[in-house]
Amino acid sequence: MVEASVLRKKGRFGQFGGQYVPETLMPALHELEEAYEEAKVDPSFREELESYYRYYGGRPTPLYFARRLTEHIGGARIYLKREDLCHGGAHKFNNVMGQALLAKRMGKGRLIAETGAGQHGVATAMAGAVLGLPVEVYMGSVDVKRQSLNVFRMRLLGAAVHEVSEGTRTLKDAINEALRDWVTNVGTTYYLLGSVVGPHPYPTIVRDFQSVIGGEIREQSKAQIGRLPDVLVACVGGGSNAMGTFAPFLGEETELLGAEAGGLGLASGKHAASLTGGRVGILHGARSYLLQDEDGQVLETHSISAGLDYPGVGPQLAELKDTKRASFVAVTDEQALEGFRALARLEGILPALESAHAVFAAMQKARDMDRDAVIIVTLSGRGDKDMATVADAMGVTL
Ligand SMILES: *Cc1c(COP(=O)(O)O)cnc(C)c1O
Repeated sequence: MVEASVLRKKGRFGQFGGQYVPETLMPALHELEEAYEEAKVDPSFREELESYYRYYGGRPTPLYFARRLTEHIGGARIYLKREDLCHGGAHKFNNVMGQALLAKRMGKGRLIAETGAGQHGVATAMAGAVLGLPVEVYMGSVDVKRQSLNVFRMRLLGAAVHEVSEGTRTLKDAINEALRDWVTNVGTTYYLLGSVVGPHPYPTIVRDFQSVIGGEIREQSKAQIGRLPDVLVACVGGGSNAMGTFAPFLGEETELLGAEAGGLGLASGKHAASLTGGRVGILHGARSYLLQDEDGQVLETHSISAGLDYPGVGPQLAELKDTKRASFVAVTDEQALEGFRALARLEGILPALESAHAVFAAMQKARDMDRDAVIIVTLSGRGDKDMATVADAMGVTL
């Protein structure tokens, strides 16, 4: 978020994280941190959130044994955590619902968000509608054109979409506009961030709300498999579905594997693999790995999946990489499509292209493991939104 002005120790994950923001934002971050600390230990807040998760969102989502995919690979047993069955078609619901309820509790009458591909904007619009909170979404005008269907969805859900025509007219500029709005209207406005990125306390708040994924995996794997999994796999854009999957397992032996967007390959420079191909720097208010050139200019990213197309990554994942508690692989566009096709043909599931990166990484991993080993893949979302992209990649005209 904007440029660094002060280095702060709070909200650190090793050398990563922090609050590299202008002074004008500090009171808002303090207020948010305090409100969250209170909310998270308040049973009535948990109850209300759990009620929305269950009756509105469809939680708990199933843990499903992918029998035919497992047989096809001939290695470890592969299970899918079905976040694709969550309301809205992805894990984003877990976070927006939590933060929207927090906003309501804080007495903020208005939600703002920024969005690149539009999926976070749609999810925020959904949560705003169900809680009766007006939503305004900032989106670069280039993205508004590219993602017209998501813009239409947001408007149907009652949100106002502000086109940002500054700079590169993409996510970066939308973030700047959203921050300007927040600083100006902080008394009435809640800034709803979409992943485990940004200044403290956002990486912690978003991780905690998404940890419902890993928490359910723990219970379900014990009940259905009789033990915890050997490996957990999740795709990594900003890193929220991965952190939500991994967090409840940090103290276990379970191996943690993140699949980043390798795009056209790391060597091509056209990718979004911040952990496997980036360097340490500061982006959007936090220190983490990011894709930047020699002068520290943030690089353009590429991925077949819009949701992974982000030059940074959450600070806690950066720490997990450095401490080797988790490992990360870059999965190319081509390989993600292979994962996509395998799941479609063998399991009758059209996954989101983001999730298809994790599926491919799990297929690769399973090959080298015993048949009694267990891999659980978080299937972060469903693929309906990606049909035009997949058709295009296959050379099919719809
Ligand atoms: C947004 C999105 C992602 C990437 O976000 P993370 O914060 O890395 O989880 C992954 N999968 C789907 C389906 C998404 O919509």
